[in-house]
Amino acid sequence: MRGENASTRTLGAAMSTPDAMPTARTAEGPRATEYAPLPPLPLREGIGDGQILGRGHAIEPPVPASPAAATATTLCAFSIDVEEYFHAEVFAGALTPQRRVELPSRAAAPLECLLTLLSETGSRATLFVLGQCARPLARLLREAAAAGHEIACHGHAHAHLARLDPQSFREDLRIARRTIEEHVGVSPRGYRAPTFSLTRKTAWALDVLIDEGFTYDASIFPVRHDRYGVPDAPHVPFLAVAPSGRSMVEFPPLTIGLRRLRLPVGGGGYLRLLPGWVVRAAVRRAARRGRPALIYVHPWELDPGQPRLPAGVLATWRHRVGLRSTHAKLRRLLAGQRFDSISRVLARITRRPGLTRFAL
Ligand SMILES: [Zn+2]
Repeated sequence: MRGENASTRTLGAAMSTPDAMPTARTAEGPRATEYAPLPPLPLREGIGDGQILGRGHAIEPPVPASPAAATATTLCAFSIDVEEYFHAEVFAGALTPQRRVELPSRAAAPLECLLTLLSETGSRATLFVLGQCARPLARLLREAAAAGHEIACHGHAHAHLARLDPQSFREDLRIARRTIEEHVGVSPRGYRAPTFSLTRKTAWALDVLIDEGFTYDASIFPVRHDRYGVPDAPHVPFLAVAPSGRSMVEFPPLTIGLRRLRLPVGGGGYLRLLPGWVVRAAVRRAARRGRPALIYVHPWELDPGQPRLPAGVLATWRHRVGLRSTHAKLRRLLAGQRFDSISRVLARITRRPGLTRFAL
């Protein structure tokens, strides 16, 4: 990632905060309010094979011919959780909203770097956009949508679902969707919970997502972990049955089975910690067997120059391990395998009969 350090230092974009836009210029980037005014866009849905389903006078985005052709049959999906380094759960207890206002925004440069990598290698992705990031990153997100990437939702304030209840979750979802619609011009239909925090204890969130019109979720990690996970959940796409008995399509991140263990390899600290060949081999194996595979990454994972924030020794290590090698790993991964957005991969999978039903 050495090649990206310079641009990472110079291309920050200011972040919004839970309550307000930033008020101070940072050394790393402009204030969000300094972005040129954006013209209103016709609203469209963030799902489908280029098909526009939205309200208003939508215009089909210019999807590049090469990625569409290259990804026409793949079941490998790539996803980016569009958030800032300070949104990571390890800092949730240490940073007040006021402290976040003062922190430099750095997501624009690594996000642009990821989009370039995807473009160069002929892949498309799903961008789970945090509502708070939609305005500061609006121009880049609109360009991503126009390039054929899917715009989905990562909530608004990055609250772990265990800290919410159905009503506050519904409000967070609505604010996020409204903000994304306003600044990116897309109505997201896919959702990923912050920190994969949709578990048995927060299964009520599935009913809220269904009520709010989301069509798929990608929040259930079929592993054992201290902050998230449903260890016995299927490790390929399935129908997650909500407490009400209704269900929605779920796409879990890539894992591999090792004897009785199921190990995560599809992203985050695991992808940064493991040798690159392990992840590439897992993706190749899934592709060879016709099984779906889902990779996830955050822009801050390509930014080794990000400020050190207060957290415990172990938490700091988990957050920072492998930051310098993420870019090279992703480059090799993307060079060897074409990826598509989650909605397009799900459209291919759900044409098959018999998705497993799994009740949380
Ligand atoms: Zn997140």
